[in-house]
Amino acid sequence: MNIHFFVQITYILASILFAFGLKFLGSPETARKGNQLSALGMLLAVIATLVGNHMIGFQWIILGLVIGSALGAFVALKAGMTQMPEMIALLHGCGALGSVFVDWVHYLKLHSQLIFTINGVESFALFLSIVIGALTFTGSLIAWGKLSERLPGRPILFPGQQWVNLMILGGILISGVLFLMNPVRIDLFYTFLALSFVFGIFLVIPIGGADMPVVISVLNSYSGVVACTTGFVINNTLLIVVGAIVGANGVILSIIMCKAMNRSLTNVLFGGFGAAKKKSVSGVKKEVHSATIADAQLILEAATSVVIAPGYGLAVAQAQHAVRELGEILEKNGAEVRYAIHPVAGRMPGHMNVLLAEANVPYEQLVEMEHINPTMNTVDVAIVIGANDTVNPAALTDKTSPIYGMPIIETFKAKTVFVIKRSMASGFAGIENELFYYDNTLMIFGDAKDVVQKLVAEFKNK
Ligand code: NDP
Repeated sequence: MNIHFFVQITYILASILFAFGLKFLGSPETARKGNQLSALGMLLAVIATLVGNHMIGFQWIILGLVIGSALGAFVALKAGMTQMPEMIALLHGCGALGSVFVDWVHYLKLHSQLIFTINGVESFALFLSIVIGALTFTGSLIAWGKLSERLPGRPILFPGQQWVNLMILGGILISGVLFLMNPVRIDLFYTFLALSFVFGIFLVIPIGGADMPVVISVLNSYSGVVACTTGFVINNTLLIVVGAIVGANGVILSIIMCKAMNRSLTNVLFGGFGAAKKKSVSGVKKEVHSATIADAQLILEAATSVVIAPGYGLAVAQAQHAVRELGEILEKNGAEVRYAIHPVAGRMPGHMNVLLAEANVPYEQLVEMEHINPTMNTVDVAIVIGANDTVNPAALTDKTSPIYGMPIIETFKAKTVFVIKRSMASGFAGIENELFYYDNTLMIFGDAKDVVQKLVAEFKNK
């Protein structure tokens, strides 16, 4: 078989595996299979690429493979579930930088030839690839810094920021147009390369708080677009196909997340989330009511319908197994138990589904926000476990709140609300939660796992 034919057939096979892998990732039950199929597709793609370029020396590739795999395995093993978004930001950034290097080397190679030849499509793809790749790299680094709290999480704004952005963008466009007219000019190439690195920083610093998940998803989409344009530069079909899939997925995910937060994508990217002054709840401090484990057990024992609203704190405390046990006890006691899933609860899309599925909570008990909210009036007890922003009624009532307009799990409509958390501290968006002051809310202060385990023990001791 001719090598070129083998490479192309393997590329098609890899693309099919990626497409099915993605489809299987759509449900928690098949997600593992989806991951394995995609990994197999990537392995085939790597083998085909290496076989197709058999004339090059492999020593550097093997060295890169060993270092990269060791680093990747180390980082993935070390990162906790709650650190996934920042890890994803870093990985996308590395992917984008990889594409920039490939384009850069390709351009230098063309330059080193006796006669410099590049067609219009190639030079345009090169320009796009370098710009999007470079800004995705620095933008992802900033997103990683913000999420891992190495940089301030709030939006960083300064006077004239839009003008600075416009000037950098203008510089990129002007050098780009001149470059397209005369692609041999390496000085123009380095100008838009450098400006794009700077632009990535300025694009992401004004975004913060609860908008960060959307930014990560947008950067994910950019990294796909870069892979796609790099495919055009080096004439690699698989990169074009896979890049397009990743790019489209990122866009769809960003739109879904924006809808979940009732924001527009432009508002997220250019709105400066959380820049408005955070004011204290309703101006007047109201009283906070708290409950003991024994109080909570008595109320739960009498409940016929219970909704559990999990959030980031559940993941931090690793309370999912204890929560499943509590759910089973309540069911045996005759209550209907459901878990209310907010699309951005936790620190990554689907975070709560993954955690609860890990603890074998029956999948049919996980109910999406839009389906559970219309029934909240009929619920006896809502137990908010380590959630905060995703149950904050200010999103519905306070027009000055940075999360105003974001749909929430409407736990406040239940007859009684228990909120399990360690203190009165705010959540990811850094704003107070008026739910804690509602008359039907009882706070149970403590670590989520510890409190839920004590509740389970209280039921067992009765
Ligand atoms: P929040 O981040 O709003 O609040 C989590 C709460 O958990 C905190 O107030 C904290 O309070 C409590 N907590 C922390 N550790 C523990 C513990 N060990 N035991 C008990 N409680 C604990 O969580 P939500 O899930 O409600 O909201 C998610 C937020 O994260 C949203 O603003 C969302 O936009 C954002 N986000 C979401 C992403 C996603 O894709 N899902 C990605 C990135 C951000 P205390 O310290 O008092 O215990």
